[in-house]
Amino acid sequence: MSAVETIDLDAQRAKPRQKPAVGNILIGLSKPEMAEALSSIGVADKQIRMRVNQIWNWLYVRGVSDFAEMTNMAKDLRLRMAEAFDIARPEIVTEQISTDGTRKWLIRFPAHGAGRPVEIETVYIPEEDRGTLCISSQVGCTLTCSFCHTGTQRLVRNLRPEEILGQLLVARDALGDFPNRDAPNGAFIPESDRKVTNIVMMGMGEPLYNFEAVKKALLIASAEDGLSMSKRRITLSTSGVVPEIYRTGDEIGCMLAISLHAVRDDLRNILVPINKKYPLEELIKACREYPGVSMPAASRLNM
Ligand code: SF4
Repeated sequence: MSAVETIDLDAQRAKPRQKPAVGNILIGLSKPEMAEALSSIGVADKQIRMRVNQIWNWLYVRGVSDFAEMTNMAKDLRLRMAEAFDIARPEIVTEQISTDGTRKWLIRFPAHGAGRPVEIETVYIPEEDRGTLCISSQVGCTLTCSFCHTGTQRLVRNLRPEEILGQLLVARDALGDFPNRDAPNGAFIPESDRKVTNIVMMGMGEPLYNFEAVKKALLIASAEDGLSMSKRRITLSTSGVVPEIYRTGDEIGCMLAISLHAVRDDLRNILVPINKKYPLEELIKACREYPGVSMPAASRLNM
């Protein structure tokens, strides 16, 4: 987004949301982990499966961020959950909207351990037939790709699964992309029912250096009984972390994009220095073996 095209929202629209406490955050937990969490506050074993499915539906289908809205559960249980767990959205520091409808959020996540709060950017790009959300996976980056601003910033920390998913939830809130929510007046959004139709892991960080958290978040984002993003519409972009490319195909099964930038090792060593560790021959081999790549119509790889 160029500065000329970008409209800074006034203080009212950019007002920060409730800052989530660090603790038992339910967003980003798998169903078995959520079951364990409910058990820890005394939910009866015979009820746990039903309660997990109810909460999952409220969080990821309806997009609620307040236990009080989970009206198919007893008030007492809602109160107990509200005391024990956190489902609040992360704090939005600023939201910017470009004249072409592109939106950029600066999102703040709380400190963990001795660390400080951290901030990352998430960008939404609407087109007529799709709306693409560019999500960050790390704060800063250990790699130093020559063309990349993030590469000039040291790695502060990996984002957690709830922080990766939180970016999608923030975008869907802002775009009215949950049932019974309205899109903002005058917003340029795609004609499809969904406003966020595609995810690209192309924001700050190398997603394959935060593999476990990215995997967990993307598996939740693509769960059919929740956020239900098609894996064919989720693209993970990597600078070429070869071992995790194999794992991405086997364990996540999303689309893959490679930041190639050069087809000779001597030049790529300069532009994308991870090439010294995983040279082109190894990278191309991993790409050739990526699931689905041999079927042109269904190819899951971009370079
Ligand atoms: S891996 Fe991605 S975020 Fe990191 S320096 Fe390279 S392009 Fe930038």
